[in-house]
Amino acid sequence: MKWLGRRESDNVNDQRGGGGGGFPGGLLSKGGIGTIVVVLLISWITGTNPLSLLQQTNLSTDPATEQGRPVQSSPEDELTKKFVSVILASTEDVWHQLEPNYRNPQLLLFTDQVQSGCGSASASSGPFYCSEDEKVYLDMSFFRELATQLNSPGDFAQAYVIAHEVGHHVQHLLGITDKMHSMQSKLSEEEYNKLSVKLELQADFLAGVWAHYAKDGKEFIEEGDIEEAINAATAIGDDHLQKQFQGTVTPDSFTHGTSKQRVKWFTKGFQTGDINEGDTFNATNL
Ligand SMILES: [Zn+2]
Repeated sequence: MKWLGRRESDNVNDQRGGGGGGFPGGLLSKGGIGTIVVVLLISWITGTNPLSLLQQTNLSTDPATEQGRPVQSSPEDELTKKFVSVILASTEDVWHQLEPNYRNPQLLLFTDQVQSGCGSASASSGPFYCSEDEKVYLDMSFFRELATQLNSPGDFAQAYVIAHEVGHHVQHLLGITDKMHSMQSKLSEEEYNKLSVKLELQADFLAGVWAHYAKDGKEFIEEGDIEEAINAATAIGDDHLQKQFQGTVTPDSFTHGTSKQRVKWFTKGFQTGDINEGDTFNATNL
């Protein structure tokens, strides 16, 4: 990809080093100082020991654990962050063009653990999208895993991962995610997994649609880039992951689709660029 120098998104929220709890460091330290001031004021009025009051409010007095640590970022990580911002900006441009009512999602960078609107998550669960707060969550160390453990190096493989998460945001804006969540209680786990596969394959399709329009004319997406995405889609297919990490394949437990299905739907989105072609829910053949 030729991406350096392209527009960067304003919607990347860098909370790396935000502390183990994953709360925004800046917010917590502000809240913390505010609480300390209030506690000191109360103890000044009541004449109690401020430390005992602090313990009652469950506020740790150890600034090293509660306050945001400054981001320790290597030049390599800074470059990756720039890349993420450029890809996010490109998805914004494409989706605004395709969906007049499109709302930009935020992309939150974190390390290790994060508290999202959908609950807490750790880096090991991989990048994800939360429809409750309309944010994409990404620990950039996933890209290293993608390149090494999953044998899918290349910037376009990373771009595909971001575009897939943004695809989930598009599904949310179209009301598809809510519809699916409302059915969860009525379905068995096996049935719900089947639905989840359709949702994931559609997000792959939408990532392909993004690539179709992002490619337009300029050299942003080059020869060989699409192969990187296909390679990544193959590597993160449920069958492939299960074989690699469990040694066996259990199709009923699939939630993302097989490698072949993921490649198929990404490619379909890329080739057609037509959002109407991506109805995985009613497709007779996934
Ligand atoms: Zn997904």
